[in-house]
Amino acid sequence: MGPHDQNSNVDFSGDPGRTFEDLARPANLEELDELLARCHRDHIPLVPLGGGSGRMGAAMPLRGGLGLDLGALDWLVVDEEAGFVECGPGLKGLPCLKELATRGLTLGHYPGSVGVSTVGGWVSTGSMGSASSRYGGIRQMIRGLELHSPGAGIIRTGCLSPRPGPDHLSPVFCGSEGSLGVLARVCLGTHPLPERRVVHGFVFPTLADGLGALQELARWKEPLAFLQLLDPVGTMLEEALSSLPRRVLGLSRLVPDLLWALPLGGLARGSHLRSSVLLLAGDESSKASLDERLDGIRFVVERHRGKDRGPVHESSPAREPVFVPDEPFHRFHGLLSLEEADSSVSWDRVLDIHARFRKAAPAGLLCRTMFTHAGPGGCSMVMGFASLTQVPGRERASRDFWKAWSSALRGPGVAVNHFLGAGIMKRQALERLDNGAMPVLVALKAHLDPHGIMNPGRGARS
Ligand SMILES: Cc1cc2nc3c(=O)[nH]c(=O)nc-3n(C[C@H](O)[C@H](O)[C@H](O)COP(=O)(O)OP(=O)(O)OC[C@H]3O[C@@H](n4cnc5c(N)ncnc54)[C@H](O)[C@@H]3O)c2cc1C
Repeated sequence: MGPHDQNSNVDFSGDPGRTFEDLARPANLEELDELLARCHRDHIPLVPLGGGSGRMGAAMPLRGGLGLDLGALDWLVVDEEAGFVECGPGLKGLPCLKELATRGLTLGHYPGSVGVSTVGGWVSTGSMGSASSRYGGIRQMIRGLELHSPGAGIIRTGCLSPRPGPDHLSPVFCGSEGSLGVLARVCLGTHPLPERRVVHGFVFPTLADGLGALQELARWKEPLAFLQLLDPVGTMLEEALSSLPRRVLGLSRLVPDLLWALPLGGLARGSHLRSSVLLLAGDESSKASLDERLDGIRFVVERHRGKDRGPVHESSPAREPVFVPDEPFHRFHGLLSLEEADSSVSWDRVLDIHARFRKAAPAGLLCRTMFTHAGPGGCSMVMGFASLTQVPGRERASRDFWKAWSSALRGPGVAVNHFLGAGIMKRQALERLDNGAMPVLVALKAHLDPHGIMNPGRGARS
């Protein structure tokens, strides 16, 4: 998926069909600053591009202008004594984690897109990873940032600031999706590389049982690294697809209808009524501590009528620095077009919102919910639907999905702006928020980007 073809459901500003007039690829920070000054002077829209894996349309060229390819700014400097790493914004996730592993370190940040997304993109979208229950999201990992803005020059926060003290600004820049300036340096905290990683699969008779266990495990004082629950449709897909021999998967690419025509839609509907749910739970730690943690997980699972199905993943982080549960939707990338959006939901609303989503989702549409990034207050609900990339009615199905999603997510205890970013929807969401923050954001935008050249259509209005 490239920066020009991200899925986006809503157009609030500009023309989603536009392309960049040109691409610029600064070789160093001096060239970046020259480019920023020129765009500021000539009022040229500028959209920073990371790995292009964002799914909410945040890097779409709504007003044309220049695409800013940050790929050449990919350095990495480790400060082992201070316990952080300084990265260039274009550094991709995988090389970053591999290099840290050779030094016995990790970030503990493993987003599903780790092979393509960049450190700058992570901070700009407020990314979370599969082990965020333990290590926190990128927001919690930031030690310092350097923002290059067209209107106010360079701003340094946290450990990069000339007089480090309490860091109030990093959280403002994190999640700003290129609308305030270019994140040109990112410092992230590191952790010692754990010895082993083990994840087991656990099955439960109902979604309520699975959610009960997820909630209890998420409240552990020392959080587990991996916790992910699939709803009945997700579980059905996982089980159906993981038992298929590779040959069938190959064949299904040639004759996609074999797998993805209506029968699966029917199955999806039926499985909602009867199927079990699958929880992936595990940790990365020393071997002795892992055995103890697994016993603790089994104890909780059994209390919620669940059963241990055994290990689904075992590895040594020194050899495999990243662990992302292999989700069936993602395995069919290319054949399937996946649209999904996440939201942060408090525990008291999770079951109700899932039921509303299922009720609103059109019959036969392959909609699944994944419950991830669980913490004491709630979890992230990643609702998605997949369909063949080219089928009649694809557009209508997409509209129906987004309608079902937005109608399910009403009421208190829900935040739509979560780890996948808010992208093209951000401005409208911000304007609907009547919490007094808008004038502050508008003032910040006017100070940092007075001509409104940075990623127009996102963040506060200039
Ligand atoms: C298969 C798949 C799995 C995914 N799994 C996850 C997941 O587990 N967790 C998760 O959080 N996300 C996930 N995502 C979404 C996406 O990978 C993240 O949002 C990621 O952080 C985007 O990084 P990127 O480098 O690709 O940024 P891009 O998509 O290129 O850009 C995203 C936004 O950030 C801005 N931006 C990028 N770099 C900079 C910079 N240096 N300065 C200022 N603005 C900048 C862009 O202008 C744009 O607004 C997934 C996506 C895919 C396709």
